[in-house]
Amino acid sequence: MSNVTIYLRRSVVDDDHPGAVSYDQQLNRCRELAKQHGSGEPDVLVDWGKSGGEGLEHRRSAYQQLKDGMAAGAIRWVVSYDLSRLSRSTKETLELVDHARKHGARVHVGDLGILDPDDPTGKFTLTTLSSANTLLREMASKRAREHVLERQAAGLPIGRPPYGSRPGESVSTVLDAYRETGSYHAAARKLNAAGIKTRAGAEWYGKTVQNVVQRAEPPALTSRRRVRSRGRYILTGMPVCPCGRSMMVVNTAWGVKLLCGGGKIDASHPRPIEVAESKVLPWVMAEAARLRVPESVEVEVSADEAKRVALDARRQRVVDTFVDGLIDKMGRDRRLAAIDMELASLDTKAAVLMVPKLDWTWSPEAVNGVLRALWRSIQLGPDMLPVSADWWVPEWRA
Ligand SMILES: [Zn+2]
Repeated sequence: MSNVTIYLRRSVVDDDHPGAVSYDQQLNRCRELAKQHGSGEPDVLVDWGKSGGEGLEHRRSAYQQLKDGMAAGAIRWVVSYDLSRLSRSTKETLELVDHARKHGARVHVGDLGILDPDDPTGKFTLTTLSSANTLLREMASKRAREHVLERQAAGLPIGRPPYGSRPGESVSTVLDAYRETGSYHAAARKLNAAGIKTRAGAEWYGKTVQNVVQRAEPPALTSRRRVRSRGRYILTGMPVCPCGRSMMVVNTAWGVKLLCGGGKIDASHPRPIEVAESKVLPWVMAEAARLRVPESVEVEVSADEAKRVALDARRQRVVDTFVDGLIDKMGRDRRLAAIDMELASLDTKAAVLMVPKLDWTWSPEAVNGVLRALWRSIQLGPDMLPVSADWWVPEWRA
């Protein structure tokens, strides 16, 4: 087996540009280049263009094989016809070269030479020419067309390459700031304080952080239902103003406070419109102390199981009675609905077991997580002091 692998990518082929470099031309040129790095017959990996209707995975599978081969140490040299055949973006080029370096492999591109990031010349070539390549591709209509089609096929936005694809841009730094602070605005402040700039060399704002975070991690971090951001403070997401609006929990020079946004824009809103967290907390702690979860896991589960078995048996009896003609269809459905409701309530009780014990020495974020597992909201009265908590499961309150 050879240590040299030729990677070919076929461009979009249609009647509009028959002059594309043919597969054979690419392969012959690559074989010549490969001879410089090994005497054996090189392996050839091919990704096909959109022609032929192949799906995305098929089209990209050779590229994945290429990366896997490097990771496994089976590939020492990658040979490609030109930069645009090697990868589809500056980001991808840089990632591939980085991947190669990690695994002791090197990349030789026909129109650029050896992309060696450890060599000053190679590094210069890599960063400068790969950027220039992106520009050229977008200027040359034939290639721009290819670029657009490929990005569309990959579900990627068309236009500027995303943040993180240029030297000096670090998506992970932005993500870390978001994870540590729990909000886009706080992450922006942290990045600005650290002297980190946006691509345009400007200050970060919540929105620019959000763009980067959502592109990098769409599902896990940002699309939790009902929860706009993680709770930074103990009461985040819960207090409700007498006017019916959800209240903001914000940090100020005088400490954390609860604030009705409606009061700020509506002059007729009753006063006061805010209250210090410290004035609300004693009530919150007393209310949370009323939590009564089942004594032991085994008892609760077995009790539920016994009841579930009994309900299932009742369900069967109702069906039998209907079959025997002793009740009509409406009577059957009514009885079954009642049993189903009881079965559903069993599931709710099983959830009790997942509620963790509350420890007020935890971080505000952790306490907030537990409180929100207990309560939907906390209603405040006209004096801005708590009146009641809306328990998800009222039976939990002793
Ligand atoms: Zn209000």
